[in-house]
Amino acid sequence: MCPNDTHPASGAADAVDSAKPGPPPAAALIEDLVVANHILFDQGVVDAFGHISVRHDKRPDRFLLARNMAPGRVASEDIIEFSLDGDPVNAAGRRVYLERFIHGEIYRKRSDVMAVVHSHSHSVVPLTVVKGVRLRAIFHMAGFVGQGAPVFEIREAGGDATDLLISSNHLGRALADHFVDHDIVLMRGHGSTVVGGSIRQAVYRAVYAELNARYQLQAMQLGGEVTFLSEGESRACVQNVEGQVQRPWDLWVEQARARRNG
Ligand SMILES: [Zn+2]
Repeated sequence: MCPNDTHPASGAADAVDSAKPGPPPAAALIEDLVVANHILFDQGVVDAFGHISVRHDKRPDRFLLARNMAPGRVASEDIIEFSLDGDPVNAAGRRVYLERFIHGEIYRKRSDVMAVVHSHSHSVVPLTVVKGVRLRAIFHMAGFVGQGAPVFEIREAGGDATDLLISSNHLGRALADHFVDHDIVLMRGHGSTVVGGSIRQAVYRAVYAELNARYQLQAMQLGGEVTFLSEGESRACVQNVEGQVQRPWDLWVEQARARRNG
């Protein structure tokens, strides 16, 4: 690890604004990001932990992410702009997520990625720890999972005494390297990270990754041989089913709003 990789702001409370904010992002983008936080909580993908970011619509070298807080409580004034190094530019002393490096390094690695969801969703975690068993597309809503999601082993990049968190640029880069041919990467003993070309697509994938994991665990318990989607089926499902991400989004927005107001 080179000295620059040891990020001075690895503590949540001491991230210092590093540059000037870019032009203000579209209000609709902020609104979508706030709603996405609420949906992910409402759908059980995140709890008090986990986060979603979006690439800045006017500065592709910046991204937007809430301050350090539970996603279900995020409001528009909690959204902070970051450089791809994970440095805030308008935190003004507010605490930031320890794992913001996940987001910046993936945006740096994949120019097509517009949104990133990181979670510890319950059914995915068991599939990060058993050698020889990989999360794999089991139904048509989760074709993006493909023929086996890679598992990021933090010991390879950080040794065997980390807290499992992606708390530096060095670890963020090591994780981002796994996204070259994949849109979901599992993280051993921790959770997963999912990317999309929009907030809606990333949220859709995060919700259905959790469902895919649950169905896979249930199918494996039945004891017979599990038939997964083929490579061709996975591809066709991504092309056809994911064109409809607006439909669940509209439903989830309404559900999350009703439960917040209820
Ligand atoms: Zn995490």
